[in-house]
Amino acid sequence: MTEGVFPEQPSTLAINLNMEAFAPIPPEWTEKAVHAHHFSCPRCNSTPLEAKRVWINRRSPVYTEDHRRKWQEFYSCQCDFVWWAWSSDRPPSELGDRPLDNDDNDYL
Ligand SMILES: [Zn+2]
Repeated sequence: MTEGVFPEQPSTLAINLNMEAFAPIPPEWTEKAVHAHHFSCPRCNSTPLEAKRVWINRRSPVYTEDHRRKWQEFYSCQCDFVWWAWSSDRPPSELGDRPLDNDDNDYL
């Protein structure tokens, strides 16, 4: 094996974001978060995908009426507004909204 070879410094923002996202202790910036009801920034309407920072409060999930778990997701928007929303309010389209294949494959 190649000893003494150091891996490249993980310098991408994505890695830093992920590490902070699941930190056990709330980052300071989450303290001023405002509850958003539409899973986007209340100030500029940006989606979480455009947020600069994210923190997910997985340590204290809440059980909804239909016995599903939800938790708070905190976002620091690109416009510097900080907001949070329940994970259950996240629009499903963000995860897997694929356009349907056209169904005129007849195999004839
Ligand atoms: Zn914003």
